[in-house]
Amino acid sequence: MMRFICDSMLGKLAKKLRMLGIDTSYQNKITEEYLIATALNENRTVLTRKTAFIISNKDVPFLFILDNNPKNQLRQTVSNFKITKEMINPFSRCISCNKELNRLEKDLAEGKVADYVLNTTDTFTTCLSCGKIYWPGTHLQNMKRLINNIFIGSDEQEAHTLD
Ligand SMILES: [Zn+2]
Repeated sequence: MMRFICDSMLGKLAKKLRMLGIDTSYQNKITEEYLIATALNENRTVLTRKTAFIISNKDVPFLFILDNNPKNQLRQTVSNFKITKEMINPFSRCISCNKELNRLEKDLAEGKVADYVLNTTDTFTTCLSCGKIYWPGTHLQNMKRLINNIFIGSDEQEAHTLD
């Protein structure tokens, strides 16, 4: 699976990619030098909306993102790299820090999430880096909708091209 690094303009895209379980590095304050160095060191493809980056690019694989809308940005990324539903693993990665999530026993979630969540949820995961706790909830529905939207959308586009 490919690994990405987003430039400072693409924070929302980075979060969406992480939601899909795709390894995506992002920091809101990052110099172009650091971006390039990280891409090279960590074997990452740069997602960028900054034209200056392309001019100064040094043999780093990149995709120039065309749109300001995060959903369209995700659509472009998925379509360009031919990412399929089978390749992704939604909710396996922390949206804040990109670390892979670990399973959290229900009794360890006690006191850390609201009581109604604890009473209605059996499966928790947590990020060992920031401590954030995740569980299937409204996010899951939104994510399923987004996934269907993005992946069905790209199929339709291909169908149109074939016409
Ligand atoms: Zn985290």
